[in-house]
Amino acid sequence: MTSHVLNPCPQCGRRFDFPLTGCMTFVAESLIANSNGKCPECGTPVVVDQPLPTAEHVDSLAAAQTDSEKRDVKIVDLPLSIRCRLQIHKMNIETLGGLLQISKDAVRQQLAESPTYIDDIQSMLDEHGLKWQP
Ligand SMILES: [Zn+2]
Repeated sequence: MTSHVLNPCPQCGRRFDFPLTGCMTFVAESLIANSNGKCPECGTPVVVDQPLPTAEHVDSLAAAQTDSEKRDVKIVDLPLSIRCRLQIHKMNIETLGGLLQISKDAVRQQLAESPTYIDDIQSMLDEHGLKWQP
């Protein structure tokens, strides 16, 4: 999965820096989610090599064997919606292990604006036999 962001925009020169994460994968994904991979200023496509929604997607979580391997999976690689992963990343969490160290109630509060996300996360955890830290 290799999305590349033309940064700055070749048309209008807008820069797509997200100081919060500093992660270009997230810049690419949020551009895809928010403006279909196009520059919000001038509409020029700035995300190239967009990953197809299903094809060739490697599910890192499914590939992880041990509990600690699962906890090392990066949030960006989790089988969750782009917006849900962005919300988790905004909480300064990098890995699934980091997420599980926070209580489910605290995460639910953080995701209060999008109540379905916590259900998505819970079904993902159930599917992979993972639990929140007690
Ligand atoms: Zn532009």
